[in-house]
Amino acid sequence: MGHQPSARKYRPGTFAEVVGQPFVVETLRNALRHGKLAPAYLFFGPRGVGKTTCARILAKAVNCEQLTPDGDPCGECPSCRRFAEGRALNLIELDAASHNSVDDIRLLTDQVYLTPPEGRYKVYILDEAHMLTTAAFNAFLKTLEEPPPHALFILATTEKHKIPATILSRCQRFDFRRIPTETMVHRLAHIARQEGLTVEEDALYLIATKAEGSLRDALSLLDQLASRTAGQLTYAAALQALETLDYEAYFEISGYLRSWQGEKALEAIHRYLQAGQEPATLTQGLLDHFRNLLLARYEPKALQENLPPHYRKRYEDEAPHYAEAFLLHGIDLLLEAERRQSYSRAPEIALEAAVLKIALLPLALTEKKAPEPQSAAPTPPAPPARPASSTSPTPRSTVPRSLEEVKKKSSVPPKEPN
Ligand SMILES: [Zn+2]
Repeated sequence: MGHQPSARKYRPGTFAEVVGQPFVVETLRNALRHGKLAPAYLFFGPRGVGKTTCARILAKAVNCEQLTPDGDPCGECPSCRRFAEGRALNLIELDAASHNSVDDIRLLTDQVYLTPPEGRYKVYILDEAHMLTTAAFNAFLKTLEEPPPHALFILATTEKHKIPATILSRCQRFDFRRIPTETMVHRLAHIARQEGLTVEEDALYLIATKAEGSLRDALSLLDQLASRTAGQLTYAAALQALETLDYEAYFEISGYLRSWQGEKALEAIHRYLQAGQEPATLTQGLLDHFRNLLLARYEPKALQENLPPHYRKRYEDEAPHYAEAFLLHGIDLLLEAERRQSYSRAPEIALEAAVLKIALLPLALTEKKAPEPQSAAPTPPAPPARPASSTSPTPRSTVPRSLEEVKKKSSVPPKEPN
């Protein structure tokens, strides 16, 4: 891969190329087609989802001499070429993260009333707009109250709640969403093909999931991994580079948990911790895993969104083996562990305790509902001992064991039945 970052190299130059923001793109193209532009726009949403990109396309489009019928900049007129080459004099970008003072804003607003040196509109893009000081916002508000017809303001921010209401009310607002995982995977696959990379689809899903909806982050991860693996991006290599556990690791742990094998689950946890996993990451991974099992049961469509196709099937196949109450209580316990970890000096303890508590859950639960307190620990006449060398989790229905026995074994008090 060349040394130019993919996020820059493949930055969309038209609305048609923007991925994952269909509503924003359609609304802006309609406004352009009908010549109904607002004097000021506010683009808000998480980082890396296309706010600045769309702002630049809009700036290019309002100055384009020959818009396409779809409402996209033509890319060929002199103005479009100036924008593409980064030498348009009527585009002024201010990074409010580093230029947030009232003087910075005055420099900008003092020139607003001069007609643009070229093109129809002078476009001002204020990135990270929430970083402006109160004085700067006030100075800006004066301009926003009476903008000259040739001025167009586009504010971009990740933190809309920090923008004063007086500014908000004067902007047409656009809500940028996280990019769906599958959309990102398609985009990554397209770019990988362009770059001549060999990639496994699972690796792309992993990258997209790690990027949490930010296409810019996903592209930067793709660049890093591609150079690390010399263009042979396998799933195994991606797992290793991103220090991530495969889904199978979580199936292993949850398999032990649903069959009372707390000690085996702990053993697995310690193995992964020793291999370098962070307790918090492991907790989060287990939490996601429990959630996936629940979703596989209740809303498989949501599951499909964030998993590679063959793992969707794996979750759908496995989910019926887990009692719903077991999963719900498990999620509660893991969320509690996550909270405790945030202020614990030994975050692995919270995870260990949660895991052991979850291992005790199957005893207190039936498939349908939690039993009455007095029947929480049924003592079967002759509980068969579990073979010590058993390597695979045993289905709970075949190994009835008393609560007392489990208590002795794990030396952790069971959760009180609700
Ligand atoms: Zn043009």
